[in-house]
Amino acid sequence: MTQASSWDAIIVGGGIIGAAVAYKIQQRDPSAKVLVLEKESKPASHQTGRNSGVIHSGLYYKPGSMKARTCLDGYHQLLKFCQLHELPYDICGKLVAATNDQEVDRLHALKERGQTNGLTHLTILSGEEAMEMEPELACLAALHVPQTGIVNYVKVTQAMLKGSEVITNCKVKGLKRHQGVTTVSSNIGKHQAPRVIVCAGLQSDRLAAMDGLDARMRIVPFRGDYFELKPQAIAKVKHLIYPVPDPQFPFLGVHFTRMIEGGVECGPNAVFSMAREGYGKLDLHPKDLLDALSWRGTLELFARHWNDGLKEMHRALSKAAFLKALNRLIPSLTGSDIQASRSGIRAQAVDIKGQLVDDFVLKQGAAAFHVLNAPSPAATSSLAIADEILNQAWPK
Ligand SMILES: Cc1cc2nc3c(=O)[nH]c(=O)nc-3n(C[C@H](O)[C@H](O)[C@H](O)COP(=O)(O)OP(=O)(O)OC[C@H]3O[C@@H](n4cnc5c(N)ncnc54)[C@H](O)[C@@H]3O)c2cc1C
Repeated sequence: MTQASSWDAIIVGGGIIGAAVAYKIQQRDPSAKVLVLEKESKPASHQTGRNSGVIHSGLYYKPGSMKARTCLDGYHQLLKFCQLHELPYDICGKLVAATNDQEVDRLHALKERGQTNGLTHLTILSGEEAMEMEPELACLAALHVPQTGIVNYVKVTQAMLKGSEVITNCKVKGLKRHQGVTTVSSNIGKHQAPRVIVCAGLQSDRLAAMDGLDARMRIVPFRGDYFELKPQAIAKVKHLIYPVPDPQFPFLGVHFTRMIEGGVECGPNAVFSMAREGYGKLDLHPKDLLDALSWRGTLELFARHWNDGLKEMHRALSKAAFLKALNRLIPSLTGSDIQASRSGIRAQAVDIKGQLVDDFVLKQGAAAFHVLNAPSPAATSSLAIADEILNQAWPK
């Protein structure tokens, strides 16, 4: 039997959280030998490579939560990181647009929350003022958030991984601790380190269970489909335009996002997915579906939100329904202005009572430290989450 390779730290998962942790370990100790194990053929193949590319500013999150704490810190660290590594980003600002009186009220509450979270220069614009920034936007009022930006998170992840050894096509299958050393078993052999951090995104609950951790939550996958504006319609969107979020859901609602490489995307919606890593609308993975449906929390969630769920499914299958949601913000958009593009799947933890777990969740297992819930804005917050992980896992 071949001998296990030895490292100072092993990170399971080559998404942006794993990459940020690897980067931060190197920052603390440049001589550390860090190994990142990724089951796909390249890093950032799942959530990190399929997100909206938005640098969030910390507007939405419950004051005092880990999301609120890490978003603004992560935002500043991310901009510095991009400057240091000469990665392009653009702080283009966003408008959160209210289209009815109820949303106008929520807009004011959102502004207060943003200020509590440390954001400055938030301004509520009238519908006319908003139109000066976005001539095609129809709204009663809009919150201007100048700090929001865009970046390519795949490039950020690649830059974060530069100082570490990365092994791809390496699926981790077991974690065992003995005498202060964790052995990580995979399809290509064994690796050992005194410190192991699991950042497995859509598979995080399975790796936690493998490590004897009963987190009382399960990952339920929610697909987000995007459309993109065709070239003739790109000029209709100048910045980022978001609806006022529904406070019942952690998802932000379909929005317009300028991409750092050019073009404008619209979406993502949020539909229950029958596969954790299947990106087609009808993809079904039996084990993923069974795991989701055998969890009491999923059934509770469905029972409470079956109506919204059906609407989302309809919108996922009907271009006209998707367009209708977009037309709430930009009425001049027509079916010939948009074309279907990619999709991403959110790893959303759901607790046993059917609540979508809103905040980030980190926990120590028997053999490794686990990231159990890292939904949006975890890409923005990644460097600050990595600090939090290292502070909890190995306090200085
Ligand atoms: C549609 C969508 C839009 C989003 N938009 C934004 C946004 O605009 N801004 C923002 O800040 N955030 C956004 N997010 C959230 C953000 O993308 C995620 O929070 C972040 O990418 C999570 O990173 P991660 O490293 O935890 O997960 P992932 O990127 O999913 O990485 C986990 C990695 O672990 C690997 N892995 C899993 N199991 C194993 C195993 N057994 N062995 C080895 N490797 C394994 C996977 O292959 C994967 O590469 C969005 C997410 C989605 C899905």
